Amino acid sequence: MDRAWIELDKEALISNIESYRRALPDNCKIMGVVKANSYGHGALSVAPVLAEAGVDYFATAALQEAIDVREAGITADILVLGYTDPSNFHKLVEYNITQTVTCPEYAKLLQDYCRENGVQISGHIAVDSGMHRIGYLPSQIKDIENAYNGSGLVITGIFSHLCVADDENEDNVKFSIAQAECYHKLIGELESKGINLGTTHLLASYAAINYKEFNASYARLGILMFGVRSEFDDYLIADLDPKPVLSLKAHITSVRTIEPGETVSYGRKFTAERTTRVASVAIGYADGLPRCLSNRIRAIVNGKYAAGIGRICMDQLMLDVTDIEDVKVGDTAVFIGCEGDCTIQVEELAENASTITNEILSRLGSRIEGRIFI
Ligand SMILES: *Cc1c(COP(=O)(O)O)cnc(C)c1O
Repeated sequence: MDRAWIELDKEALISNIESYRRALPDNCKIMGVVKANSYGHGALSVAPVLAEAGVDYFATAALQEAIDVREAGITADILVLGYTDPSNFHKLVEYNITQTVTCPEYAKLLQDYCRENGVQISGHIAVDSGMHRIGYLPSQIKDIENAYNGSGLVITGIFSHLCVADDENEDNVKFSIAQAECYHKLIGELESKGINLGTTHLLASYAAINYKEFNASYARLGILMFGVRSEFDDYLIADLDPKPVLSLKAHITSVRTIEPGETVSYGRKFTAERTTRVASVAIGYADGLPRCLSNRIRAIVNGKYAAGIGRICMDQLMLDVTDIEDVKVGDTAVFIGCEGDCTIQVEELAENASTITNEILSRLGSRIEGRIFI
């Protein structure tokens, strides 16, 4: 590897899937959410492993992500959870991809397209149970029935999404239960009208554990499947023994010694207080390490922690390796992962950047060269 790269632990991924299988009710299968390049892990690396582990349904956010997964050889069903522009409806047909139906108006666009072109598109109805992002409102049950009874656009599933399932605040627990009950009541009513609902799914990573009793035919698993939490102290009632899948590493490109009073990087935001060995590393904010982590990031070099010093640049950053012996050009710096007795969890980066791991991981850029299994 040249500059910076990602290493993936296949055993960890499979182990996480197996822990989930043990935790989920027998009749609830796993939908692998591989959106945003599988949360930065590389969809084309992750999806085949999931398929091998028996995952038979995939979800992405964007049509192109779904096409990429399909072209990587996945024959299972793939659902696009987000919006697809009508100018791309033909690709849903061409690649046999299922589209989320976000509202009655959007259903009409899909139906018109199918009628005009004499084709069928498979769709899942999104239900807005309180998040108010996308989906049919429960009061639009008649429109849902019409969608199921229509032709061209063939409704093969129905789902909703909880928005505070990772929070233990009493009010939010009540809200999650109300969302789940709203969804289950709606699907009960549709079933009682004799509608074959197809694939039903409600719960994502956290909800599938915290609100297990509301599981449907599938749970849509993203972040926890990769062995990391969104934040250190999220609400999760059962520990699934998560194993982080991703490590982020980069090469040291240069080492120099500076004297007390000298400064490092743009803006001179770090001043040496002692004679300092400075190692430059070939990774920067354009690779996905947030610039706000300047002076608040660390790496593992030769089995020891090294503090990030000075501003993170677009393509490089600097580490203080004064206390680490024999650091040289070509050595590896680990920003997420383990080495020796040292571990850096992505949760730490997220906390220091005031965000969640989902954002840190999904922004790991395309310029990071390899996503390789070790
Ligand atoms: C992203 C997403 C998921 C996966 O969420 P995680 O919390 O990462 O498991 C599931 N469902 C929908 C609708 C999503 O947008």
